Amino acid sequence: MTARILVVDDIPANVKLLEVKLSAEYFDVLTASDGPSALEIARSEAPDLILSDVMMPGMDGFELCEQLKADPATSHIPLVMVTALSDVADRVRGLEAGADDFLTKPVNDIALFARVRSLARLKLMMDELRVRQAASGKGEVLAESDIEIEGKISDAHVLLADASDTLAGKVSDYLAEDGHRTDHVKTVAEAMEAVQDASYDLLIVSLHLAQEDGLRLCSLVRSQDDTRHVPILLLLDEEDLPRLPKGLEIGVTDYLIKPIDRNELKARTRTQIRRRRYHDKLRDILRSSVSMAYTDALTGVYNRRYMNAHLDRKIMEIAETLKPVSVLMFDLDHFKSVNDTYGHTSGDEVLRELALRVSKGVRDLDLVCRYGGEEFVIVMPDADVDVAVNVAERIRSLVAGEAFEISGRDQPLGVTISIGVATTREPTETPETLISRADEALYGAKAAGRNGVRSAELERLSQRSASAAGGGIV
Ligand code: GH3
Ligand code: MG
Ligand code: MG
Repeated sequence: MTARILVVDDIPANVKLLEVKLSAEYFDVLTASDGPSALEIARSEAPDLILSDVMMPGMDGFELCEQLKADPATSHIPLVMVTALSDVADRVRGLEAGADDFLTKPVNDIALFARVRSLARLKLMMDELRVRQAASGKGEVLAESDIEIEGKISDAHVLLADASDTLAGKVSDYLAEDGHRTDHVKTVAEAMEAVQDASYDLLIVSLHLAQEDGLRLCSLVRSQDDTRHVPILLLLDEEDLPRLPKGLEIGVTDYLIKPIDRNELKARTRTQIRRRRYHDKLRDILRSSVSMAYTDALTGVYNRRYMNAHLDRKIMEIAETLKPVSVLMFDLDHFKSVNDTYGHTSGDEVLRELALRVSKGVRDLDLVCRYGGEEFVIVMPDADVDVAVNVAERIRSLVAGEAFEISGRDQPLGVTISIGVATTREPTETPETLISRADEALYGAKAAGRNGVRSAELERLSQRSASAAGGGIV
């Protein structure tokens, strides 16, 4: 995996050192020697990761980080502070400014590459989601910082896997201060059972679990579909640091070195929860925009594009099922005068109510679609001419039988529809020809006086037998 990394440091030798190391691993390196030019490059070049010095004249690393996080154009770029400061208070300050991690100078190569790779991987996944959200055309692209604006980062459900009750008590108390609930387990088996039963926002896992390896738990969690995306914060001792790269490779999202500092724990937890919620939100938006791609926004029934694909499949299936497929096409009668008399908004209300009534009046396997304007189509698999005409007649009377309540009007509105039916038993039929026969039949129903049903096939049959179809059918 390659990534584009911006290195920021006021001392040229430090920049050079990181540049050489990163380039040797085939990362694409950009450099800046102060905060303002780093901001400019971050905006224009959109790097995948920023490694920034903390102490710089003018704008320091904390301020740079705050500014990057405040700008939607750069807030999603992970930032690692490279610092000589090893004071916990400084780390917390950096995390609160929005930094993702710290590397202490002199930078250890293994830690550097492990961290860079894991953050770049995470960013790649987020970018993919963001690109898809943008492509879906649904609203402004959501920024991670929007999550905090929407609500405080609290109410998270955290699972702690650690052998010690003392440590568990502490973690749970600290997190409770931010409004989070913590469950405690001691073994890999208990942890796996817990994650299957409840959905956690964050897993905090100790590297040493009594007799077991915490990384085994991490890899199990990562390998299962329903827990794959849960962030994992690894707890480890200073002397276990050499095992951290392995953890990051497995998919640990962050880590904390014991003894646990309350504020650092809280800050890192907040970052993980915020990111998790951001990620979930992006996926939700995507899911609803996927449904937008095949439903009609006004009425909620399927749209024409989806119906065409569906009808195409249903017709092809005739070859196997040998069952007929029918299509009903209907159109509101004199709808223009509804709009003209009561206004377009009332017209929309009629369309919504119509879609609702009709959807309730058909089987689950029938597909209702808004074909355009005030025209709808119902695809009915396994329905021959008689069944289809009966259903059409039922729908016609569902609409005509009870006037429509329109908001702001005392008198309900009488509404009628005309329906054309077409049926096929030929797998070689096309959606276009079938729909066009239904459309012709609909035209016939209009011509015959509206509020009626007409079938292309019945007509043909009746022509052949020279007898008219009876009942309410024209
Ligand atoms: P007919 O019985 O022959 O179907 O007469 P009609 O007035 O229904 O037919 P016409 O095709 O002349 O008019 C259709 C009307 O449907 C015109 C248009 O304003 C209205 N319409 C189409 N789409 C919408 C919509 O989304 N909302 C509203 N309120 N009206 C719509
Ligand atoms: Mg019309
Ligand atoms: Mg009409």
